[in-house]
Amino acid sequence: DALVRRVGGGPADADESVWRERITPGRFDGRTVVVTGAASGIGRATAHRIAAEGGSVVAADITEPGLETLASESDTGRITTVTGDITRDDDIDRIVTAAGGRIDGLANVAGIVDDFSPAHETSDEMWRRVFAINVDGVFRLTRAVLPAMLERRAGSIVNVASEAALRGNAAGVAYTAAKHAVVGITKNTAFMYGPHGIRVNAVAPGGVATGIAHGGAPDSAWGNERTRDFLRMIPPIATAQHLAASITFLLSDDGVNVSGAILPSDGGWSVQ
Ligand code: NAD
Repeated sequence: DALVRRVGGGPADADESVWRERITPGRFDGRTVVVTGAASGIGRATAHRIAAEGGSVVAADITEPGLETLASESDTGRITTVTGDITRDDDIDRIVTAAGGRIDGLANVAGIVDDFSPAHETSDEMWRRVFAINVDGVFRLTRAVLPAMLERRAGSIVNVASEAALRGNAAGVAYTAAKHAVVGITKNTAFMYGPHGIRVNAVAPGGVATGIAHGGAPDSAWGNERTRDFLRMIPPIATAQHLAASITFLLSDDGVNVSGAILPSDGGWSVQ
């Protein structure tokens, strides 16, 4: 927690009460937003913020206990949870069905990290798993929500890329390549669907205090020498709520004139 960044001289933003004071009431009134990866970290904070700002949230994740906690924590009654794997088409169908026809927004947050391996030490298994979730998952969810958005000629999609989408020294080769692919999906869909009233953007987080480093990848090794070097390199770690602020800006009408953007949300790391 000592690493958690303090913004604007205020109290540590890990404190939920601070974020409840900062919300924009009504910003998502009447809107339905699908959030993947909602059982923890950035997805969880994003789901909470959208619900607190009046939106209905379809909160999807492969991890059921985290989803149950999310729903019980929210006093809004506007969070519907779906346990599902974004690499499975039948689960994606259930996620989209839970939205009930109208989908105003999609936050593609679910993802896993690799073990910071360079190419000659990256297994096929690691490569495929990182791509299946971080790239195929983003593409398939995007494909699944577009018909509902096209019907209303409105919608906003936010993909979660990474600092590793901007530079070569922020992760292993699999994660770096996968997050560059997320940028490609973002730019192409922003171009293709802009004329149909649909905006698509990505945020590129730097270091964020979440569980991603401890779980996810098959032999995730947070704490090995590579990742310790990495931690020394990056600016202070942000909280999931900091990222939720960036994601909801782009998802909401506040981002009305922004499409195809890759927004670094990294405390300035990308300018180093
Ligand atoms: P997290 O591990 O707390 O959350 C990720 C969530 O995705 C988990 O709840 C996990 O269960 C879910 N998930 C994983 N595989 C899934 C699947 N197949 N189907 C459905 N859900 C699945 O991590 P986080 O830090 O909140 O990560 C969110 C996003 O932010 C990821 O895309 C990650 O790559 C990106 N990111 C994180 C950081 C960071 O430092 N934490 C930095 C850059 C980018």
